[in-house]
Amino acid sequence: DANPLDGQVALVTGASSGIGEATAKALADAGASVGLAARRESELQAVADDIESAGGEALVVPTDVTEESQVESMIDTTASELGGLDILVNNAGVMLLEAVADADTDNWRQMVEVNLLGLMSATKTALPVMKENGGGHVVNVSSIAGRMSMATGSGYNATKFGVNGFTEAFRKEVTDDGIRTTIIEPGLVDTELADHIPDEDIQAETEEWVDSIEPLTGEDIARSIRFAVSQPQHVSINEMLIRPTQQE
Ligand code: NDP
Repeated sequence: DANPLDGQVALVTGASSGIGEATAKALADAGASVGLAARRESELQAVADDIESAGGEALVVPTDVTEESQVESMIDTTASELGGLDILVNNAGVMLLEAVADADTDNWRQMVEVNLLGLMSATKTALPVMKENGGGHVVNVSSIAGRMSMATGSGYNATKFGVNGFTEAFRKEVTDDGIRTTIIEPGLVDTELADHIPDEDIQAETEEWVDSIEPLTGEDIARSIRFAVSQPQHVSINEMLIRPTQQE
């Protein structure tokens, strides 16, 4: 089926760059109308323009996922403007790598608020809309860092392990509601994620690592998400770990 998501509405957070941008485009290409959420409105508009030029439908929903009221209006606006909500991709995230000894606790707080609490409140707010529609699919972008920790990962690992724990608990609560969950665990993907690492040495090491192997692209992850959300309703792909072939 060339357009397995025809007639469906998807919402992607962190759609202004990287994995989120590629995922929004892939879901639009599969036929979904797509809400685009993140803070940078001009980047979202550029993604929407690309989707519309390719014949798809997109809605820009500027949102800071750390503000609960903005998360609520993100869901409400998408559902009312696009006609429901079938697929929520919680992808917005930041990776502020620091050793525990050197960590700025404001960076920990930001990671918890974006990567974990933002995802949790978006899931909670989407739930009644999905229940009313008779089903839905929540895709949570975790990481390989949600399964194994690394030195300097402290805060980031804590949020991604948290995403996995939250998602599995949520899955058990909604099996009777026709709601599916998928945890996506990418390995190294070449995006803007490392640009925000506060520690210069750790940022330089991360960039060297990206240059030392052939990393994944946002599109590589988007294909897996498209696959997971295009399965028949009785099939629930709950977890996908995707590494670059050269990653240890
Ligand atoms: P990018 O930095 O390219 O994308 C991050 C996205 O999150 C941006 O669209 C950004 O938009 C958005 N975002 C950040 N803070 C907020 C906020 N407060 N409110 C709303 N949106 C926000 O990196 P990636 O594409 O790599 O990251 C996407 C996800 O993939 C993250 O959850 C990351 O942890 C995960 N991941 C990435 C890996 C990698 O190697 N790159 C590996 C494993 C997982 P804006 O700034 O406009 O708000």
